[in-house]
Amino acid sequence: MIEIVWRYEPADEFVEPSPETCAEAVQLINEGNAAFARLGTDTADGQRLVLPVTPEDLGLGHVPGEAPRQAPFAALVGCADARVPLELLMSQSANDIFVVRVAGNVLANEGVGSLDYAVTNLTDLRLLGVIGHTGCGAVGAAVDSYLRPVNYLGVTHNLPLRSLIDALMASVRGADVALQRSHGAEVTHNPNYRSALADTAIILNAAVAADCLRTHFASVMSDSLGVAFGVYDLASRVIGIPDATSFEPTWQAGLLTPPSGTEFVDFIGDVAKSAYIASLLAAEPTAGH
Ligand SMILES: [Zn+2]
Repeated sequence: MIEIVWRYEPADEFVEPSPETCAEAVQLINEGNAAFARLGTDTADGQRLVLPVTPEDLGLGHVPGEAPRQAPFAALVGCADARVPLELLMSQSANDIFVVRVAGNVLANEGVGSLDYAVTNLTDLRLLGVIGHTGCGAVGAAVDSYLRPVNYLGVTHNLPLRSLIDALMASVRGADVALQRSHGAEVTHNPNYRSALADTAIILNAAVAADCLRTHFASVMSDSLGVAFGVYDLASRVIGIPDATSFEPTWQAGLLTPPSGTEFVDFIGDVAKSAYIASLLAAEPTAGH
């Protein structure tokens, strides 16, 4: 049996973790995701995840009838995909994370405006972040439009859908360039090229979006408010990026500071050369791709 429990126990006198720096907020999320990823393993703590909460977390103010104060330590942009509920993946509960979810975790005015509210009004905030995920359908749609322009013609009349795909296209193009540089131009003929291109673009898209947030909120960046990104691997349930130093297609756990400027070339080049992307290219082609 596997249990995930939110527990308020008055006798426990649980004190909500309150990170004072961006680094501490990142550590809290990394440890929370590690606990979530252990679920289902044979270890003792792989069977049960107990998340202590305070009455305020549950909307139970100390003063009857009074609303709890909003006190997240992180504000994150994630994908709308139902398999990627950010609080759960990070072993957090209500009132811990200010979440903006939109397909492809793209940045649009409304999403950045929401983060602007959080940055301006929520004094416990220590981290802004972007979380992508493998197997993202929105990025997959952008990849299909990129590889087969006739597919893009099919969405040109649908302005809302087109705006999503357009927002992702730069990362798809950047991923394509990186894969061709790392594996040669003939890689585009690999039967698994779509899947390798999609996952590379997913990682680049999350990093680019985080870099954009860092630029947008540059005036308030400090040790006590920073930016990070990561990609949730649906298979391993780990948030991070492919391990570029491993010969195994493993996922390196942990949020990262986004690259900036020319650092992006090396960053996405390392991803393209990783054993994880190589394993996608070498896999038996799946039906329909
Ligand atoms: Zn998605």
